[in-house]
Amino acid sequence: MITEEKAMLIVISGPSGVGKGTLCKMLLDADRKTVFSVSATTRAPREGETNGKEYYFVTDDEFLSMKERGELLEDAVVHGHRYGTPLKPILETIKDGHDVILDIDTQGALNVMSKVPDCVSIFVLPPSWAALRARLLGRNTERPEDVEIRLNNAVREVEQLAKYRYVIVNDDGPGGLDRAFDELKSIVNAERRRTIRYIPHLKDQ
Ligand code: 5GP
Repeated sequence: MITEEKAMLIVISGPSGVGKGTLCKMLLDADRKTVFSVSATTRAPREGETNGKEYYFVTDDEFLSMKERGELLEDAVVHGHRYGTPLKPILETIKDGHDVILDIDTQGALNVMSKVPDCVSIFVLPPSWAALRARLLGRNTERPEDVEIRLNNAVREVEQLAKYRYVIVNDDGPGGLDRAFDELKSIVNAERRRTIRYIPHLKDQ
C-alpha cells in the first residue's frame, strides 16, 4: 500500500515549571519522527544550556534584526525577555517529513494557531497552583522574585486553555509523568492518522 503522510506542527504550552520541557524531551527521545524547534531568546543561558541546543541566545539587536528580516514565525515578550520561533528550520523539517515540536508561550501559540490552523495545540496543566509554586521554587533556576512573575503569568496563560485543541494534566503523584506522556503520545498518534495528513491508496490486489 502506498501512503501519503504530511508532517505536522505540534505546539505545546503551559505555565513555566509545569514540566513541558520534560514531556517534549521524552517525546523527542521516544519518537524519531519529531524534531525540536530551537527558539531565539534574549534571556541569559542557564547553567548547562548550550547555544543552538535549548535556544539561540542572542542580543536584543540581533533579535530585532531577525524579526525585521521576517525570519520569525512568531515572537513574544515572555517573563520580561524576547522569544521567537525561527521560520526557516520549521519549513525545512516539515518538508523532510518530520513533525516539529514548538515549546512556546500562549501569546506565541495563539499566533501560530491563526497562521497554521492545522497545527496540533496542546496545553499542559499542573495538578494545582501549590504544586506549580513548589516546582518553580524547587528547581532553583529563578530568583524568588522571578518565580512570582512566572506564577502571575501562569494565571493569565491558563485563561487561554480552551483555545487549545488538547489539554494534559502533568500530575506530581506516582506515575503522573508517565500518564501525561502516554496521553501526549496518544494525541500525536491520533493526529498522525487524521485524513488531512494521512491518505492510504488502495491497490486492486
Ligand atoms: P524559559 O525561559 O523558562 O526557557 O521559557 C519561558 C517561556 O518562554 C516558556 O513558557 C516557553 O514555552 C516560552 N518560549 C520559549 N521559546 C519561545 C518562542 O520561541 N516563542 C514564544 N512565544 N515563547 C517561547
